[in-house]
Order: sequence, then structure tokens, then C-alpha cells
Amino acid sequence: MLPLAALEKAAGEMCDANGSGQSVMEMSHRSADFKPIIEKTEALFRELMDIPPNYRVLFLQGGASLQFAMIPLNLAAAPDPAGGEKTPVTFVDTGVWAQKAAGEAAKYARVVVAASSKDAGYTCIPAAPAPAPGSAYYHITWNNTIVGTKWPSIPDTAGVPLAADISSAILSEPLDVSRFGLLYAGAQKNLGPAGTTVVIIREDLVGGAPAWVPAMLRYDIHDKEASMYNTPPCYGIYIIGLVLQWLKDLGGVEAIAALNREKAALLYGYLENSKNFYSPVEKASRSLMNIPFVPRETAAEKKAVIEKRFVNEAAGAGLVNLAGHRLVGGMRASVYNAMPLEGVKALLRFMETFEQTL
Ligand SMILES: *Cc1c(COP(=O)(O)O)cnc(C)c1O
Repeated sequence: MLPLAALEKAAGEMCDANGSGQSVMEMSHRSADFKPIIEKTEALFRELMDIPPNYRVLFLQGGASLQFAMIPLNLAAAPDPAGGEKTPVTFVDTGVWAQKAAGEAAKYARVVVAASSKDAGYTCIPAAPAPAPGSAYYHITWNNTIVGTKWPSIPDTAGVPLAADISSAILSEPLDVSRFGLLYAGAQKNLGPAGTTVVIIREDLVGGAPAWVPAMLRYDIHDKEASMYNTPPCYGIYIIGLVLQWLKDLGGVEAIAALNREKAALLYGYLENSKNFYSPVEKASRSLMNIPFVPRETAAEKKAVIEKRFVNEAAGAGLVNLAGHRLVGGMRASVYNAMPLEGVKALLRFMETFEQTL
């Protein structure tokens, strides 16, 4: 969900933003009307995430999924796409998104999967491995949206630039940007509508794409053109700005982190004491944002019935989107920044009532 304050502000400005007589959707991206909007969104980003001056903020398209390819294309691709030895890149396999990122990277680089939690069903983050020798970058999926794990700390990469997918955890708690070479996030989990992808990249990593890499996939071009090489996702950038303003008014990242910890503690605490449900994720690796839970019932048929009833009856009570990801089943409460404490309390009240029927 998005903060109601941001949606209401957007509704009020739908047909006339800042007295321009236009909707943001109608503005030219190079106009004097839009310029302050993208500049304000970037400034709020820098302030809230405490982004050092030697990092660039890019507003791109193509989702986090396009970054799976753009990162190797810019940081590791060979000068000749047809020949030569591929540069090694280090990956940690923590589930579906990490695998997808590695799969794209393998087209342009030599992927070394240095650690995996596959044998544990991805219910934990493995101990951080050393980078493969000569690695151009070291990739992690910071928060694993589907299985509900999060890195407990930033891995030591021995100087290899760390690239992290923070799609489902961006701005949920403080993160030391200076420890990373590159951070990326699709907007639709915690920032705004789908369609905008945010990339935060250290300036020395911007210029590494070989000449054959297409213009739209090059960080150097998007950086030089300040995210306006072509038309950026203007309305999405505007909404992100409103969401960031809401976050700032609320007290910033420290304040939302305290609230997020409170929400997560309530849910995990409930699950620890529940007779019928539990969290499959190892304690030290638990996500703050995505909290999966499954019935303790082990008989497959009965378990499926409980899950189906839970999701349907919860929806009937106004609690929607509680089905687990289609790849893993079960249930999942995604408690992104805009989910109020009251939303979590309502879920727990529903769960108490539901458990009495089991
Ligand atoms: C949702 C998600 C993605 C996919 O994002 P798109 O913007 O749809 O490409 C990638 N990584 C993580 C961690 C996600 O949660």
C-alpha cells in the first residue's frame, strides 16, 4: 500500500499541479514545470537515505529485472561481445530474485555462486562468502520478498563493489550507502507506482560499459542526461516524491524503522506463540517487510484447506493480498512502510478469531 497522504495530495493535484494548469501526466519532461518535481524527488532521496555526494541517483525504467542485465553490462561486460574471457562476478543465492539476477549476469559475465541457502529451503541467509578472485562486483538480494529473509548485516566484500537489490526494503530502515557500489529498487514495493526503477551508483562505476552496449542500458548516458536521455516515468517520479515527503514529515528513516520493527515484532511474536501457524524463517535472517507464515498442520490436504480458508476469510474481513507468493504458497503479510500498526493489529485480531475455528 501507499501512504494515504500521498495519494490524497496526488488526487488534489490531478488536474492542476502547482498552479500549472496541467496534470503532471501532461507536462513535458523538459519543462520548467516538471524540473522542480524530479529535482525535489532526488533531493528528498539523498536526504532520507543519506546518500554521499559521490553517488548518482538515476530514475530509470524496466524494473529491478532490467538491472539484473544492466549491472553486468556496465560493470563486467567484455569489450567484444563475441569473444574473450568473461569477467568473474560473485553471487549469493538466496532465492528466486537472486537466481534471476545471476541468470542474466551469466549472459555477459562468469557467474560464481559463492554461497547458497538452497539446502535450507532459503529460510536463512548464508554466511557471507569471500568474493571470487577478480570479481567485477559482488551481488546480493538484500531482502528476499518471496521467502521473507533479509541480510542480517552488510557483507565484507574485500573491496569488490557490492551491488544489492533493495527493491522490497528500500527506506524501511537505515542503510549505510557508502558500503555499496550500487543499489537498485523497483519502485512498486515501498516507494510508489510500478514503472520507475531507482539506481544509486558510486560515480567511479558509472562509465564501464563497452561501446556495444545499447544507449538505454548505459549508466553513463542516463547519468550524463540526468535521467532524461529519453522521457523518464514522470508521473511515477512525482508520486515517489510525494511518498518521500510523507516519510520525511513522519520523521524520516529512523522513525519508520522504529515503526517497522514494532509491526514485525508483533507479527513474529504472535507466530511464535501460535498453536496453528509459524514462521519458517530462521530468526537471524527474518525480513522486516515480508513475513510469510504457514500452518503447523502437516497433512497436505488439510494444510491446503486451511490456507485457502485463511486467505478467503481474511479478504472477507478486508485484509487482502495475504496469499503467499505463487512459488512457495502459504501466507505472507507484506508490511511495507505505509502499512500502519493498526493494519497489523487487525490481522492479529483476525488470526485469533480464525484459530478458534481450527
Ligand atoms: C519484486 C522484486 C523484483 C522484480 O521487480 P520488477 O520491478 O518487477 O522487475 C526483483 N527483486 C526483488 C527483491 C523484488 O522484490
